[in-house]
Amino acid sequence: ASKEKRGGTYHFYTKEIAEKMDRNIMLEDGLRQAVSLGHFHLVYQPQVDIQENQLAGFEVLLRYTHPTIGMVSPSEFIPICEKIGIIHEVTEWVLKEVLKQQKKWKDTGFGEIPIAINISPTTLENPSFLHIVQSLMKQFETNPTSIEFEITEDAFMHNMNHVKVILGKLNLMGIKISLDDFGAGYSSLKYLKELPIDKVKIDRSFIKGIPEKEREKAIIESILELTRRLKGEVICEGIETEEQLLFLKEQGCQFVQGYYYSKPLSKEEVEKKFITQGLISLRQAAGQ
Ligand code: C2E
Ligand code: MG
Ligand code: MG
Ligand code: MG
Repeated sequence: ASKEKRGGTYHFYTKEIAEKMDRNIMLEDGLRQAVSLGHFHLVYQPQVDIQENQLAGFEVLLRYTHPTIGMVSPSEFIPICEKIGIIHEVTEWVLKEVLKQQKKWKDTGFGEIPIAINISPTTLENPSFLHIVQSLMKQFETNPTSIEFEITEDAFMHNMNHVKVILGKLNLMGIKISLDDFGAGYSSLKYLKELPIDKVKIDRSFIKGIPEKEREKAIIESILELTRRLKGEVICEGIETEEQLLFLKEQGCQFVQGYYYSKPLSKEEVEKKFITQGLISLRQAAGQ
């Protein structure tokens, strides 16, 4: 009986691996065509200034729908895009869509809405990245101060010096640089020390423990103090409860983002819920 059972387990195991391989192959094929077939779209999550009690801007998040698999998380498909060498093309698509949308909103009379865009570190190593950013900004008459690039730590960043130069140039152009998922990686402090970072985005794993966990609270307080001394800005991600909000507000944190205010929204929802309501009452606008 035990032999049979082992056999059964073994069979199940290989089937699982085979399924995972199939999924990977399907995703790779799908992603290669996603830009041309229009299978990507963008959603926008509000970032809130909790000291001024107003909308500060949005983080744009990429969405992908595979024809048969359906919706796939960016945590799964972004690494695949990097692996198969299409991340540059994908980033360029995101940038173009964002700047186009931003201009559309501006032309409609909504003003220059600040938007934060996730840029994977390998993209920064693309020699033509800077040029692409500049020409898109020219095409859509973008005000660089309404753009922010969120950079995550990456163990595979080959050339920290090169990245430093690129970020420095973007920074000089007036684009804000923020360090995403701060504290979650191995070398957050090294990045903060080496790179021209304007803003730190505290990882949501630290926010989760509020209000019970003294350690998480101490860490957040220290990061807030650290960024104050570096004259940088701070945003906390993953705010889900009022307790978390109140703690952060009391500690002097200026910006937050999370389901407590709003999940990521389609551009139509953005227009309906926030912009046409004049950004007046955020909580009210967020439907809470
Ligand atoms: P991230 O940049 O740290 O984005 C925040 C993630 O947390 C988003 O997941 C967002 O939907 C989620 N989130 C926001 N508020 C809450 C909350 O209150 N609670 C919880 N539990 N989660 C919350 P998403 O959209 O699945 O994105 C995952 C990651 O994929 C992003 O993490 C980012 O690193 C990457 N990503 C997304 N879009 C792009 C893109 O256009 N380019 C690149 N290179 N990476 C992207
Ligand atoms: Mg981000
Ligand atoms: Mg993050
Ligand atoms: Mg993340």
